[in-house]
Amino acid sequence: MVVVLKAKTSDEVIAKMVERINKMGIRVQVTKGEHQTILGLIGDTKSVDESRLHDEDHVEKVLKIQEPYKLANRDFHPEDTIVEVKGHKIGGGNLTVMAGPCSVETEEQIIEVAKQVKLSGANILRGGAFKPRTSPYNFQGLGLEGLKMMKKASEITGLPIVTEVMSDEDVDIVAEYADILQIGARNMSNFSLLKKVGRTNKAILLKRGMSATVQELLMSAEYIMSEGNKNVILCERGIRTFETYTRNTLDLSLITAVKELSHLPIIIDPSHATGKWKMVEPMSKASIAAGADGLMIEVHNDPQNALCDGPQSLKPEKFHTLMETITKLHSVI
Ligand code: PEP
Ligand code: MN
Repeated sequence: MVVVLKAKTSDEVIAKMVERINKMGIRVQVTKGEHQTILGLIGDTKSVDESRLHDEDHVEKVLKIQEPYKLANRDFHPEDTIVEVKGHKIGGGNLTVMAGPCSVETEEQIIEVAKQVKLSGANILRGGAFKPRTSPYNFQGLGLEGLKMMKKASEITGLPIVTEVMSDEDVDIVAEYADILQIGARNMSNFSLLKKVGRTNKAILLKRGMSATVQELLMSAEYIMSEGNKNVILCERGIRTFETYTRNTLDLSLITAVKELSHLPIIIDPSHATGKWKMVEPMSKASIAAGADGLMIEVHNDPQNALCDGPQSLKPEKFHTLMETITKLHSVI
């Protein structure tokens, strides 16, 4: 349920209303926009007597929210959420590009790639230290050592770090090094992990599960937000379909769906969505044209010998061209 207040309702009145609603056993999120203030009611609102919320002097209207996600719902927060990471703004019309290798392999590799993507204009450095691999016999990532290498690359280039956290027990250590905690597609429905990262003060990059609906994705965001962390960035990385030519099928319509249903920023990962480096630039262009807030792109200085996801990784020169195109396209859009 949402209570839309009339323009110019004073802080004193708002505080009194919040207190009154709290007494009904309901939490309230106050969102102050440029033109209106909204009280978002969180909890078992079915028991709330709607007539008690109407107050002719101050209340414009009371809306019932049908969807099960509340905090992630655009009705709760009509303006776009902007997630700020070390001074860089994600969402609200800004272009964000996260780039780097699938996995951190050596200190030289991550520093080299970080310098290259920075030169090309990337805003955030990606790299996996804890890797979710389909086979237990494949490279699993360097763990803590990998985080330390990324930190060094981040210090040299000034790029903030996004890296995956795979389990509850790693959250504290990963949060020590990362600026954005990534929840991978395979963990989108790991509710205890979602709650745990919801109790950190780090931005969260939440990837869509490979067979998750938009509602399921937003419910996962809700898990994080309901623990107090409102800094959630959504990411489409392709879904499973009958098509096997590409690694996954990129669902670009998710951008429009998310923009309508939610206020959270959404970025696209064309690398995992297609599995083919040749498709990364065209799908990046399509994503920006469709209104995505940014991209996550795998870049490797030696894709042929990469320990993970070489076939979908761009060489730094190709990434440079992509950045030139995307920057121009974004300014037109
Ligand atoms: C990744 O970004 O490194 C990754 C494993 O992606 P996903 O969870 O989307 O498969
Ligand atoms: Mn990868």
